[in-house]
Amino acid sequence: MKFVDLHLHSRFSDGTYTPEELVAQARRCELAAIALTDHDSVEGCAATAQACAAAGIEFVAGAELTAEQDGNELHLLGYFIDMQNGRLLTQIARFQAVRQDRIREMVSRLNKLKVPLSAEAVFVLANCRAPGRPHVARALVQAGLCGNLDEAFERFLKKNRPAWVPKFKMSAGEAIDLIHQAQGVAVLAHPGLNRTDEVIPRLVEAGMDGIECFHTKHSTATSEHYLELADRFDLLVTGGSDCHGLSKGRPLIGTVKVPYQHVEQLQARAAEIKAAATPRLD
Ligand SMILES: [Zn+2]
Ligand SMILES: [Zn+2]
Repeated sequence: MKFVDLHLHSRFSDGTYTPEELVAQARRCELAAIALTDHDSVEGCAATAQACAAAGIEFVAGAELTAEQDGNELHLLGYFIDMQNGRLLTQIARFQAVRQDRIREMVSRLNKLKVPLSAEAVFVLANCRAPGRPHVARALVQAGLCGNLDEAFERFLKKNRPAWVPKFKMSAGEAIDLIHQAQGVAVLAHPGLNRTDEVIPRLVEAGMDGIECFHTKHSTATSEHYLELADRFDLLVTGGSDCHGLSKGRPLIGTVKVPYQHVEQLQARAAEIKAAATPRLD
């Protein structure tokens, strides 16, 4: 039986692996296919595709976008997206600029709390265009200002803690449209973490294609619950580990067992989306 991992982060967002390291790990886990789903970035996709081709692993280009529906934060995964799509790249550049501003704001709040961290230190450590809170946490630990990452989040960075800054979010409908116009398949990430099932019918109306039923933080009962919802709303099923490399200890890649058939179903939907977007010549 062939298995896949459709939710992976690289160092182009808040993961620690380079594309090459990620693919080496995928090979070690004997995965048949992987998707790279960095936050607000497709920069790692080309290198990952190349490393996958060399390793005989199927590659799915992806991204994870942050959105909002009825006041709830949601993450939407785009699969089989066109990495060159102009509107997607323009919007991603905008999200990245917003992320960088948010880092500066978090650092300025830390400074007001007499925590002497510089935004530059965070950017150097992040070394990517889509920096986020995990990078601020790592910079705090690296500078000896916090003992560990948990402490950094608990004292400063968690929601409603003193250095927390609200995140800009587009609406879920906008995120789904952005993914579709880039010829991608739109999937709700880790619904079990959000526990906001009431938004699912609205997302289905907005054209969402699938739901991530299998995830590291989903129990068997949670996965079964979302498999039932997928069936009820006629949604595709996906799954992945949400591996961030070594940032949280052991790498998670390959630990969530997702059968290969889910990639084939995603691919079939991507072909439909592409066919609908391409003007017919006859
Ligand atoms: Zn997420
Ligand atoms: Zn993720």
